[in-house]
Amino acid sequence: MDEKQTHKGRAFLLAAIIVTIFIGFALKLMQYQVVNAEQYQQMAQRGYSSVQSIDAARGELLDRYGRPLAVNEVSYDVIINEAYLPSKMKNTVIERIITLMEQEGQTWIDTLPISTEEPFTFLTETDAQKRQIERLKTEKNINLDATAEVTLNNLLADYKLMKWTCAQCGFVYTGNLDKESAKYRCPECGAGKEQFHRSEDAVMARKVAGVRYQMEIYGSSDSTPYTFSKNIPIDVVVKIREYSQQMPGVEIKETTSRRYVDGTLAPHAIGVVGSINQEEYESNNQAIKEKIEAEHPDWTEQQINEEYQERKYGYNDMIGKSGLEYAMEDQLRGQRGKKRITTDSKGNVLSTEIIKQAKPGNTIVTTLDKDLQRAALEASAEFLEMAKKQYAPELGGSADRISVVAQDVKTGEILAMVNYPTYDLSDYYTKYSELSADPLNPLLNYCTQGIYMPGSIYKPVTGIGAMAAGVIDSNTLIDCRQVYQTGTSYNPRCLGLHGPIDLQYALMVSCNYFFYEAGNRQGIDNIVKYSEQLGMGTSSGIELSESLGHISSPKYFAAAREGSDQQWTFGNVLQSAIGQLDNAFTPLQMANYTATLANNGTRLRSHLVKSIESYNLEETIEMIEPEALNQVEASQEVFEQVRQGMLRASRDTARGTARYYFGDYPIDVASKTGTPQATGGDDNATFIAYAPANDPEIAVAVVVEKGYSGQRGAPIAKAIFNEYFGLNEETIQQQNTDGQLIP
Ligand SMILES: [Zn+2]
Ligand SMILES: [Zn+2]
Repeated sequence: MDEKQTHKGRAFLLAAIIVTIFIGFALKLMQYQVVNAEQYQQMAQRGYSSVQSIDAARGELLDRYGRPLAVNEVSYDVIINEAYLPSKMKNTVIERIITLMEQEGQTWIDTLPISTEEPFTFLTETDAQKRQIERLKTEKNINLDATAEVTLNNLLADYKLMKWTCAQCGFVYTGNLDKESAKYRCPECGAGKEQFHRSEDAVMARKVAGVRYQMEIYGSSDSTPYTFSKNIPIDVVVKIREYSQQMPGVEIKETTSRRYVDGTLAPHAIGVVGSINQEEYESNNQAIKEKIEAEHPDWTEQQINEEYQERKYGYNDMIGKSGLEYAMEDQLRGQRGKKRITTDSKGNVLSTEIIKQAKPGNTIVTTLDKDLQRAALEASAEFLEMAKKQYAPELGGSADRISVVAQDVKTGEILAMVNYPTYDLSDYYTKYSELSADPLNPLLNYCTQGIYMPGSIYKPVTGIGAMAAGVIDSNTLIDCRQVYQTGTSYNPRCLGLHGPIDLQYALMVSCNYFFYEAGNRQGIDNIVKYSEQLGMGTSSGIELSESLGHISSPKYFAAAREGSDQQWTFGNVLQSAIGQLDNAFTPLQMANYTATLANNGTRLRSHLVKSIESYNLEETIEMIEPEALNQVEASQEVFEQVRQGMLRASRDTARGTARYYFGDYPIDVASKTGTPQATGGDDNATFIAYAPANDPEIAVAVVVEKGYSGQRGAPIAKAIFNEYFGLNEETIQQQNTDGQLIP
């Protein structure tokens, strides 16, 4: 398209816009004159009425005993409500509130990209400001080369903030005198243009113009009050109320904002709340519309649209961004109310009528136990500090991240979910750039999103699969000769030379040889089947988004190595059988798996919501009941064998892999360590345990990144058990293991 055509196109577009606007006016005029003549006449006499929305309080988040996690606190915003503000008083009122705010040392929203002090210059520090200058000039039809001074003058004239005083008689002209013709004379004394001088308070005029501009771009109107300043202190609230007579339209709006009793406690599970963005605005409103349409297939388009207008998100709304705040948004959000405000022609309020009460959101009672959460968090922090001081870097001293999940065995409730290092919900927004740049990525929920090779904690999968398939039983002895001969060049080893041992013993000492053979006998397909049934590599059912991880299998092997000529081998079966190769699962899946082992194969859905209550807790909307996802196809005897093996891993004071932590523990703990061999060195440590072993209540999974040895997760699990069973607290101490590697 050449330039001429572009111009033509623009001209046409402009014409089209003008015609459209004109039609709009004409229709409106018709409405006034014809359609509703009587009603409008009445209104003109009586005053003016507008409908405004009433915000709903967001539901709160509590721990399982009703203790606050994320609750509301009242905060105060200053708003300018044009429904109450006579337009002739706009500048005066804005000047008054600005003066008051300045006296009180408060700030207000002003993004006009022109300095607030003379000489007026453009603010061009950020790209956003540069774009805003361009937008401002385009919107106001100001030449793009115009200086800040000229631009500001345009705004001042627009908002009637410019003043010219006649030197001879003191007459004040408001408007842009520069644009008057040379023949202009003072209406009072007849003095010429040259006798007039600018007389407004330039700095104050700039500030008022900033607010006027802000109101304009925001779309402030009788039905859409403008937020002038957010979260102001209570003494300023009192001051503003004191002067309310002089400032019609200036109001204090009580809103709620999130308060965290301890924002570091469970930020990943709770999640953050923030202002809705364009994308969220569009997708959520689209979903709301579709939901209404699905709920009321018989409604007319108008009925649907009316309902939609009531339920849709507004541009100022807050929305859950992550964690349960995101997952439970529909419950937490509540429903806006509506009020009608009637004013007389001078802007005095005649009446305020609530058309529809706002309905606050529902409160979520989570499954989390604050004390357990705290115990897991503190133990994780202590452990990393201790490890750094006392272990050589290559022996666990460089451990830098811990993920812990504790699940109630009988219900599937998540009692604790800790990622360490963590962050504080209270200063999430102020520290966001720092947090998101942190290489340890404290913002990510590694419990649900991090996938880790399980290592030897996977051995129960292989043991259960083998017993269920009938290729071994509880009496079967497999002779550990340390090196597992495959007849190929790949002959993997056991860390010990255990001789003829049964399943229990193999679990106790974590013999690789036994599970190579158990894997070989049942075959990879059977291992995959039991892995899935036990919850490794499948959804836990949690409310949060979770990674599904992957089970090591020929299918996954091929998919992950697409384009390479690597073939699945017999050696891969052996590696898979001991939780290596492509096996990778989330700490949450490991906890769900552990609970399933404890539960004799009944796999319950992991969940973080215990119940949904009405906002004031007067009514229970929904209790979340335990839900069985599947039953592992294996007899109770199979789980009993695994239980005894895992119990011996804790109890056997000579050989058990977790004996240093649970050898003389007052409660029976069934446990399994894992030291998955990381490809790049720095092995991780995995640890699973449930207790009491014979009547399990709680299952725990711990992953220590670069933890070096499986038992390193044990002290964190122990801290949780101590808290859960009310045992004496112990601080994390280095156990005398002399760098002994425990698989
Ligand atoms: Zn004059
Ligand atoms: Zn062995």
